[in-house]
Formats: sequence, C-alpha cells, structure tokens
Amino acid sequence: MQDVAVGVLVENGRVLIGRRQRGARYEGMWEFPGGKIEADENAVDALRRELSEELGIIAVEIELLTTIEHRYADGGQFHVRYFLVRSWRGELRPTIWEEFVWVSPTDLEHYALLDANRRIIGHLCKRLSNGDDEQFMSVALELAHQAARKGEVPVGCVIVAGNVIVGASHNRTEEIRSAIAHAEVGAIADALRRRQTKWLDDCTLYVTLEPCPMCAGAIVLARISRVVFGAHDPKAGACETLYTLTADRRLNHRATVRGGVLADHAQTLLQEFFRTRRGKADDA
Ligand SMILES: [Zn+2]
Repeated sequence: MQDVAVGVLVENGRVLIGRRQRGARYEGMWEFPGGKIEADENAVDALRRELSEELGIIAVEIELLTTIEHRYADGGQFHVRYFLVRSWRGELRPTIWEEFVWVSPTDLEHYALLDANRRIIGHLCKRLSNGDDEQFMSVALELAHQAARKGEVPVGCVIVAGNVIVGASHNRTEEIRSAIAHAEVGAIADALRRRQTKWLDDCTLYVTLEPCPMCAGAIVLARISRVVFGAHDPKAGACETLYTLTADRRLNHRATVRGGVLADHAQTLLQEFFRTRRGKADDA
C-alpha cells in the first residue's frame, strides 16, 4: 500500500485548497497539497518536502489530523495521513495549481474535492470551527479571571491571526479610570501596535462578553474579519442582541459573528463578580 502525506494549511479558521491544472490527472478538481511518502522518509519530512516543492513554503507547525485508507477506482490503495499546518515561512507560490482559495471547512463541500480529501471535511469542521474557538475563548476567559482579581469587570479579549495570538487585554476601566477602557479596545490597540498595521482584516477577535456599541464600532473600523463572543449581553450587546452593528451593510466593513462560545463560564464569572461587589457595598 502506498503512503501519502497531505497538508491542510490553516489560517484564521480557513483552509487552503487548490485547483489542479489543465492536462493534469483529475484536472479541474480541488485538493489539499501533498504527495507520496518515499521509502527513506517519515510522513512529516515527506510533507515538508511536498509543501516546499508544491507551494514554495517551509512548514513550521505540523500536527496530525487523521489517517484514512483510500481505494481509487483503478484499484490503487493508499494510506493517507492528513496533517494540520498551522504556521509556515515564505509566501505561497503554488506550482501545481491553476488557482487557490482559502475556505472555511464548512464550505468545502461546495468544491469538487478529490474523494479522499472529501472524507476529512467532518474532521476539519470539528477540529477547526469549534476546537480552536473554544481554545482561544479559554484564553480570553483566563484574562477575564485576571480582571476580576484586580477588581475590574471580568471581560477578557484576545485577537488571533493564523492561530497566533497577536493582541490581548482585559477590561481596565478601574485601573486607568476610563469608561472606555474595554477589553476589545485594549486588545485591538495591542494588536495594531504589535503588528504595526492599521487594520486587522486577517484576524478573529475572541471576547468573553458580546461587544458593546463602542467596541463593535472599533471592530468595524479595524476591519476585523470574525468575532467570537461568549455570553450575550442584554444590556449593551451590539453584535446580535440589541444591535447588529458588525453585520450592518450600511457600514463599510462587516465581520462574521459566532456568539455563545463557552457562554456559561463567562456568564458565571460576571454574575459572581457583581454578586461579590454588591455584597461588599452592602457591608460598607
Ligand atoms: Zn465595549
């Protein structure tokens, strides 16, 4: 049986697929990059070599996604090992494809993917959509806990580009005596400063509480592409609850939104904070 290594490049929750060139076998079909593992190679080395040959990049972070056995109509049988490639060096210069696109895992089913590739869509949806969102939301929640320990309203926020945290903050309205020092504003400023850019159009913002109108406005101005929030905010929520600012077509940018991620945790943290604070006020 032949062994094959396939790489799924991941950036901002999207994955890379390319369309095979005219004249090639399976021309016009879409696929992930990769190829056969030679006798003297291990799977990861083979993948690194393939990605370098096919895309001109040097893979850095590689993790196994799944292995499947696949039999082609002509009887050829393959062990296909799929890897997530979360970071790499160099610019994408595909040599084997007519064109390439970044798509969210849930949109993959709309592409004419090679059969083996089609079989991992479920794995990708599970691992990327929810897994990563929850993972980054956990980091935001940790920041919210930090805020609570300092006597701040517990809201935390991280900004992520290509699965790397590029900005982070928690609410600091008490610390700097400022009504506008919300977690999102701090995290956006942090990301802009660190990246030395004006916009964050390749970023996802994770925040434990639904953004207020000010923060939703900042998200639009910074051109953040995706927002994931924890608890809905019936008093100020401006992404889904009271307003839908980040989806308003009259503004010059829109972000996709996913709400309710680890919402119970964020909600409990806020409730406990306000209960304790009321308790203290009563004692005084
Ligand atoms: Zn806000």
